Amino acid sequence: MNSGEVLTCALCNYQLQDGDINQLRVSRNQKRKFHEYQIQKTFANFVNNARGIIKCPNRDCKWVVEVRNPNERFRVKCNACSNEFCSICNQQYHYRSNCQEVPQITQRWFVWCNTERGNYWKIRAQQDASCRAQLDDYEKQQGANAKRNEELRRRYEELKADEELKAKTCRLCPHCKRVVQHMGGCSSMICGQNYHGGDQQSGCGKNFDWDQALPYIPIVNTVQEQMKSALENQQRVVHTGIRCKNCHKEIEGIRFDCIHCHSLNYCEICEQRCTLAHSEELRRQKKQQHVFRLVTTPEASHK
Ligand SMILES: [Zn+2]
Ligand SMILES: [Zn+2]
Ligand SMILES: [Zn+2]
Ligand SMILES: [Zn+2]
Ligand SMILES: [Zn+2]
Ligand SMILES: [Zn+2]
Repeated sequence: MNSGEVLTCALCNYQLQDGDINQLRVSRNQKRKFHEYQIQKTFANFVNNARGIIKCPNRDCKWVVEVRNPNERFRVKCNACSNEFCSICNQQYHYRSNCQEVPQITQRWFVWCNTERGNYWKIRAQQDASCRAQLDDYEKQQGANAKRNEELRRRYEELKADEELKAKTCRLCPHCKRVVQHMGGCSSMICGQNYHGGDQQSGCGKNFDWDQALPYIPIVNTVQEQMKSALENQQRVVHTGIRCKNCHKEIEGIRFDCIHCHSLNYCEICEQRCTLAHSEELRRQKKQQHVFRLVTTPEASHK
């Protein structure tokens, strides 16, 4: 009883039933304690043994693996189709951001490339003549930007449609915060399984009640306000200790951090050309486009 196990027979693994406990030659009080212990332990074992399952999100792929800690976010590589994905949100694996932040970061990057980069340099050039060169460069790159913006637009439209669908049909598992869809039936759910026998999906395997689960909150567009406050902040922000991969200077102003690369930061001067080159390289390798996170206030340490 001290080892934290369910009480079993000393000779085999037979779990003691209530009747067996009554047969034990111990005091009444002791028996009652055994009964209570047994019930509590059996229940705890049942709950803790809920199995975490990770399934490859590729529709045609059947690869599943059992994991010890399903609440942890890590990079998964499918052994069957070599797809790489985030263990929680199933998307392309992302660094220095949690799953809930990714839609917002993607939206901001899209709006930056589409309109805000131009607005930013127009305003900066008015405030400071030395930014003129940057604005000229922006205008020169219009053609190259248009191609990438088209790809980003597609990604962004998909994201928006997905967000609307999730807000309508999904909630968050209270244990692992995965987005779970309710396929109909009663409100008793097992994370990762359709309760009434459906497709296996990634999940922590724990029980929860649909009616008590948190709603999925879709992203709202706050990019304009964020940009305004970044521009109004006349003080130059310094990202201490973080260097631009291109010019190797300590980054000042807006920092651009690729959430899909292990470590890749650019300063606002190098950002346009370097992120275009990054896009070009990914396109050449037939890989999904990466998303850069705009960091306008210095962060204490890398998440
Ligand atoms: Zn796969
Ligand atoms: Zn994720
Ligand atoms: Zn049911
Ligand atoms: Zn869960
Ligand atoms: Zn730079
Ligand atoms: Zn990248």
